Amino acid sequence: MAKLIIDELIDALRCLPGVGPKSAQRMVMHLLERDRNGARQLADKLVTTMDKIRHCAQCRNFTDLEICQMCSSPARDGQSLCVVENPADLIAIEQTGQFRGKYFVLMGTLSPIDGIGPDEIGIDILAARCVDEVKEVILAIGSSVEGEATAHYIAEMIKPRGIEVSRIAQGIPMGGELEYIDAGTLSHALTGRKVI
Ligand SMILES: [Zn+2]
Repeated sequence: MAKLIIDELIDALRCLPGVGPKSAQRMVMHLLERDRNGARQLADKLVTTMDKIRHCAQCRNFTDLEICQMCSSPARDGQSLCVVENPADLIAIEQTGQFRGKYFVLMGTLSPIDGIGPDEIGIDILAARCVDEVKEVILAIGSSVEGEATAHYIAEMIKPRGIEVSRIAQGIPMGGELEYIDAGTLSHALTGRKVI
């Protein structure tokens, strides 16, 4: 038997992280009863975002352009490249106001068990960027097992090119995720980075 339209929407909402059947049902009832306009806008924004947003060809961050605004900004120092795990970490570092260089967003960490190898985190694109202009690479990667392995892998790849590689350390708790760390601590960690 064909599923009811409402049940299909409840199922679809469960693609969101942390949304189980109960909360999905609550969301659908709320939208149907109280905010049909909001729901239409949400549907419209979802389609537009999914159609238009892609990865920047240089830093892999989300953008609607071929090269994102940060990568093409002449105000950013292209000699210094900060490697982060995800866009939320990039935002966290930007909020410290300590870093004026450019970024590279891995969109994950190496995790062979989950089938995430160097290709999946854009190592080839990162390698291509570490040629002429870049003089310093800062690895702002969390200290989980995968984070450690990823930082090590990137450092080994970059060091032979004569580029200085440092790693933020101070004040970052073991297994800590950058996006949850306050700006003060993160700012400290950035200034106290160690050459590896
Ligand atoms: Zn970019």
